[in-house]
Amino acid sequence: MTEKLALFGGPKAVTKDPGDIFTWPIITEEHEQAVLKVLRDRSMSGTDVTLKFEEEYRKWVGSKYALAFSSGTASLQAALYGCKVGVGDEVIMPSITYWASGLQAYSLGATVVFAEVDPDTLCIDPDDIEKKISDKTKAIVAVHYMGYPADMDRIMAIAKKYGIKVVEDVSHAHGALYKGRLVGTIGDVAGYSLMTGKSFAIGEGGILTTDDREIYERAVAFGHYERYRPDLIQTEYLKEGAGLPLGGYKYRMHQMSSAVGLVQIKYYDEQIKKIQEAMNYFWDLLEGVPGIKAHRPPKDSGSTMGGWYAAHGLYRPDELEGLSVTTFCKAVRAEGCSTSPGCNLALHTHPLFHTVDVYGHGKPTRIANASRDVRELDVLPVSEKIGSMTYSIPWFKHYDKEIIEQHANAFKKAALNYKELLKIDEGNPEKLGGFNFFRSTR
Ligand SMILES: *Cc1c(COP(=O)(O)O)cnc(C)c1O
Repeated sequence: MTEKLALFGGPKAVTKDPGDIFTWPIITEEHEQAVLKVLRDRSMSGTDVTLKFEEEYRKWVGSKYALAFSSGTASLQAALYGCKVGVGDEVIMPSITYWASGLQAYSLGATVVFAEVDPDTLCIDPDDIEKKISDKTKAIVAVHYMGYPADMDRIMAIAKKYGIKVVEDVSHAHGALYKGRLVGTIGDVAGYSLMTGKSFAIGEGGILTTDDREIYERAVAFGHYERYRPDLIQTEYLKEGAGLPLGGYKYRMHQMSSAVGLVQIKYYDEQIKKIQEAMNYFWDLLEGVPGIKAHRPPKDSGSTMGGWYAAHGLYRPDELEGLSVTTFCKAVRAEGCSTSPGCNLALHTHPLFHTVDVYGHGKPTRIANASRDVRELDVLPVSEKIGSMTYSIPWFKHYDKEIIEQHANAFKKAALNYKELLKIDEGNPEKLGGFNFFRSTR
């Protein structure tokens, strides 16, 4: 027998004060002093602090080049430009991700082709990638979604076979390992958001890393006019435009963000070690509970979840006689544990990918320069139902055994009492999740 659900008047599973276990990012006097120094030096613009941050980040990743940006969105746009994505080209990306994984393709005159996600990893499905390739495909964006490393071996093999570049979107997975290798070092180039909600959090900002000199220089040329100088550029054809940004953008990082980044990078490995210990303990406690399944790589795979950004769980309603994730989450919340059903809404269901004419082409931007109607390829049943198969879980930043056990128990109670919940279940609403899903800071 399990205890009566709090939803029906039983005792709550979560009783202990969470303290600072959910507080993120961790900000100390060291960060404050670093930011104050930038202010007092009146060096909010400029690149001296940013160059230092780039060098530390580059060393941490182990890449040849790192280039800081005003946002992750900008870093990924420049990564696509770096891969020579241009007018009429196609970029393959998962439909389940944040829009900034590849919507920027529009601004380059290119379009987006969506691929399906895998229901266990929530990352792009390599089988579907191969079906979506055409002679216009220039790049694949592999998103390590909610920290789970995408299947890079298969993605790289497909890219090699067709001569396509791979952009890694590491905005959810700083420090995650794929079979022992750091994500962001496997594809041709990587873009990372470093905004405050992410696991590597410095304020608004992003960074690009690559080992490819030409990609790096194209990214510089695109939005870093002050560094786009003939004496610094080696790629011959890029010298012509030096002095002005080819993209018409100014993308350098705010130096207060760079200053915060220089402090964050000193402690990040240590911090995610604690997060991993806490999050893995949470899932260990729920191993074998019907209806719920951990979203993490197998233990002996050499792969890890990095900082567990926006951690989610997998929901398997067939193991609970079809109980909706909506009612399941309602019961968990009543236990004192915050959770909500769904994750990112499938991007291909938004009008921006159907009808919206952004630039005045007189037709939808998605197909403005395309050589085929790529909207017809949006047959993505898993992406469309992924909301009913996922829910958010607490993102623990420290290992406090009792707090973690209480939160795990909230999920366990809801699952084990599913028969009671079936009696009040009204199913899921049509849409679960959102297009602009991201966690607040605490
Ligand atoms: C946050 C995020 C971005 C964009 O980063 P910003 O720094 O917010 O511009 C890109 N891709 C993914 C997957 C993200 O979550």
